[in-house]
Amino acid sequence: MAISLKSPEQIKQMRHAGQLVRQALERCRAICQPGVTTAEIDAEAGKIIAENPGSVGLFKWYPTYHEGEGFPAFTCISVNDEVVHGIPGPRVIQDGDLVSVDFGVRINGWCGDSATTIMVGSVKPEHKKLCAATEYVLQLAIDNIRPGRKWSQVARLMQRHAEDLGLGVIRDFVGHGIGETMHQDPKVPNFVSRELLRNDIDLEPGLVLAVEPMCTLGTDQVRTLDDGWTVVTMDGKPAAHYEHTIAVTETGCEVLTGP
Ligand code: MG
Ligand code: MG
Repeated sequence: MAISLKSPEQIKQMRHAGQLVRQALERCRAICQPGVTTAEIDAEAGKIIAENPGSVGLFKWYPTYHEGEGFPAFTCISVNDEVVHGIPGPRVIQDGDLVSVDFGVRINGWCGDSATTIMVGSVKPEHKKLCAATEYVLQLAIDNIRPGRKWSQVARLMQRHAEDLGLGVIRDFVGHGIGETMHQDPKVPNFVSRELLRNDIDLEPGLVLAVEPMCTLGTDQVRTLDDGWTVVTMDGKPAAHYEHTIAVTETGCEVLTGP
């Protein structure tokens, strides 16, 4: 694995990208109400690209970035039992939906990546608990990332919190290093595996990770729909997804996509 560390100047550029992502997700949240389509939510994120010359959406036409190939939208919007990689379109948001929006931007050569699950209207109490718990799992990572630790120590805390609440922890998709491109080494799982323990990640200043716990109210097993992108839970139960781009600092970490 070739893990690159970023300089303070590079992290400043990534903070800029991260803040564009944060603004876009805030705008998506503001319009995410019953009656709105997922395509309309996607268009809101697209406005951030249009308003910031030189910025590029990291998802549109991923992975080739040849127009007309790959993922067809600015955001991934995954509703209820959709876990990740949902394609925005004519689907109309309903009261009680869980809407996960994932967005990434590159500007001046550096990337930011973040996701959040929006609770629309009157959400069932158990679905609220799922979202709160998954967001807390991400917060646990933020609170525990610091130089001198290994990623497995953080991942163990994340996994334990989710599983103690009876939630499924998705195994098939994980976080990632991020920098000049969206997906860099290392892989950043939200659970401890033999593979991770064999190849643990030293948390050191300048390491920048996209940490993205995905939890479900049931199984951790998923499948991909015939559209080739949308990942859904095997049991049809809802999922939540929260992600931040996080830089390890001398004393802890900085959330580059945070407020
Ligand atoms: Mg993302
Ligand atoms: Mg990511």
